[in-house]
Amino acid sequence: MPHRTPARRIRGRRRHPPTGPTPRLTDASADLGNRISHSAAERISGTSIAVNRWHHHSPIQDARETYTTDVPTLIRRNAQFATAESRHGLVINPTGNMMVVACVDPRVDPAHVLGLDNGEAAILRNVGGRITPATLRTMALLSKVGAANTATHRPGDWNLMILHHTDCGMNDLASFPDALADYFEIAPSELERKHVTDPRRSVRTDVDVILENLHGPAFFVSGLIYDVDTGQIETIVPPTPLTLGEASTR
Ligand SMILES: [Zn+2]
Repeated sequence: MPHRTPARRIRGRRRHPPTGPTPRLTDASADLGNRISHSAAERISGTSIAVNRWHHHSPIQDARETYTTDVPTLIRRNAQFATAESRHGLVINPTGNMMVVACVDPRVDPAHVLGLDNGEAAILRNVGGRITPATLRTMALLSKVGAANTATHRPGDWNLMILHHTDCGMNDLASFPDALADYFEIAPSELERKHVTDPRRSVRTDVDVILENLHGPAFFVSGLIYDVDTGQIETIVPPTPLTLGEASTR
């Protein structure tokens, strides 16, 4: 696509930098005559923040408009992360006894919008944050992982939060009923009951799917929606205990 050409050109140029691991910032700093080093910029808290500090300058504006996150950038960020104390001492079980199901939309990352720490919650993300048969199969697998790691189980209740959101890409998929029916593993004629364009109703629907399929004690399911414009979440279904059922699928 023509509009991607500038980004490709910049990435290509970055592969042969004269010096330093971050040619984009180095180039930008040189353009501006700026003396800040790359390592200092990274310490500020990441490449994108450093770029944003200068976005009113036209050379940086150009760089920002053509910038895409590349792998070396993430490797550099990881090097900082790997030295963080907060990653130590974590176990495979989530420290918060929390699981979140959310959409893959980049604006609704539960770690960001819910302030979750690393290790605090198990997070499943799919298109729409929906409870599909595939989601249930994943949960069934996770229950086996949990059963294999009982030594690090934490006491207390468990919570499963289903987080849907406004302006979801599900709206764009509504015109592909066959694909959505495949996704939910239902007939296209049944799709209406999934409420794919109405997050208030879809999150209630998915809470009901959980309540129908998962059973056991000390486990609560809730349904919330996130507003991508305000950044706020709204509780649609407060934490609701699973029924014990005849045979637990946890
Ligand atoms: Zn979405």
